[in-house]
Amino acid sequence: MSLVSAGLVDLVRCRRCSRLVDYLATLPVKRGFSRADYHAAPVAPFGDPAARVCLIGLAPGAHGANRTGRPFTGDGAGDFMYPLLHQAGFASQPAATSSADGLRLHDLYITNAVKCAPPGNKPTPAEFACCRPYLAAELAALPQLKVVLCLGREAQQSYLRLLQEQGHIARLADYPFNHGAVQRPGVGPYLVASYHTSRYNIQTRRLDAAMFLALLQQVRRLAGGENG
Ligand code: SF4
Repeated sequence: MSLVSAGLVDLVRCRRCSRLVDYLATLPVKRGFSRADYHAAPVAPFGDPAARVCLIGLAPGAHGANRTGRPFTGDGAGDFMYPLLHQAGFASQPAATSSADGLRLHDLYITNAVKCAPPGNKPTPAEFACCRPYLAAELAALPQLKVVLCLGREAQQSYLRLLQEQGHIARLADYPFNHGAVQRPGVGPYLVASYHTSRYNIQTRRLDAAMFLALLQQVRRLAGGENG
């Protein structure tokens, strides 16, 4: 999918959230890197234009996607997730190290609810709302979408708010967040919830590889079987 077709042509130049713009400009860089090594801008989604599955994360990691310019690339959350996406047939390779590493997604599109890295991984409600039109454009540009996989409660909430704004659902409370839950908000795609693949959740064993792989296999069944 091109950024133009997804209505995202202005995304990388977006400066609507001043708190996030300031944060990206002043964020101390990781040891061994210089400021020039950092993307430090909104992170565009990527994936298969014919995807039946869309994975929505929270926001770019400060030293992962915000550095490499591709969602979940270059940090612990991606190091956990991409080998399992590869094992489940959604990614062409297990390693995700840079935006030029050759990784391709099959039947999967990956984005974040908020496209700029926030302080403490905590976007404000206003920042979620400000970025939602981009999410709306992305989802509208996936004609074969069958399953939305939300990583974490906040990503699910923002997706549900979008459905509410579009008139597809009445109350967010009708769709509680529970890891592994499969719901059908409105007449649209299935909604599948997962704990976020953050380093914290992995280290505390809230989420492990077997759990996430089982969820990916369930997502594939919901989407209609083997990915092409
Ligand atoms: S979070 Fe979204 S709306 Fe806010 S500045 Fe970044 S791209 Fe723009």
